[in-house]
Amino acid sequence: MIFKQLFDQKSSTYTYLIASSKGREALIIDPVLENVSDYIILLKELDLRLVKVIDTHIHADHVTGASKLKDITKCSTIMGDHTPADAVEIKVKDDEFINLENLKIKAMYTPGHTSDSYSFLMDNYLFSGDTLLINGTGRTDFQNGDSKDAYNSIFNKLLKLPDETFLYPAHDYKGEKVSTIGKEKKQNPRLQVSSVDEYVELMNNLKLKKPTEIDFNVAKNINLGA
Ligand code: FE
Repeated sequence: MIFKQLFDQKSSTYTYLIASSKGREALIIDPVLENVSDYIILLKELDLRLVKVIDTHIHADHVTGASKLKDITKCSTIMGDHTPADAVEIKVKDDEFINLENLKIKAMYTPGHTSDSYSFLMDNYLFSGDTLLINGTGRTDFQNGDSKDAYNSIFNKLLKLPDETFLYPAHDYKGEKVSTIGKEKKQNPRLQVSSVDEYVELMNNLKLKKPTEIDFNVAKNINLGA
């Protein structure tokens, strides 16, 4: 399998490129608009044909490269079916599988960071978007975010996966690249709560700044960055 974790410096976003092997079909998760030409070069180098692009949710901190990638490669655009983005071609449901030749990726509806957040599971690789981060969790204070939903998605869905599941989030601000569900259960400070109420209380008191370009980015992302 080909698996590349790519990083956008400006927004600290991780983008993932997946394919079964050289010369085959590829899928990209959470592309960043400014980096599309780099993805195209990488696809060419690996002799891959991009067929699908997934956004885990409508992002607030960067503009998605989904629409531009579609224009260049004719790939299909995918999001979960709770997305407000009408431009998305394939809207997957909770528990639905996305096929990429012999690879299967399961969509998991994990609202909380935003009401449209999905995570994606391929074997023991979990792409958690901003639902579960390494040593953190996605904020819940905009885009219909909800701390109770986030607790439910994290504790009753993602943390039920086997401990050895690899965690690949959509962001990291400290240079961490990968973790596991088991490690996060033990070490993630946001997960050391004993009830949903305690989690809601913790999230209500984060006092985070509004992302600088959120209004522009969300407006662009509703049209997949077009
Ligand atoms: Fe986000």
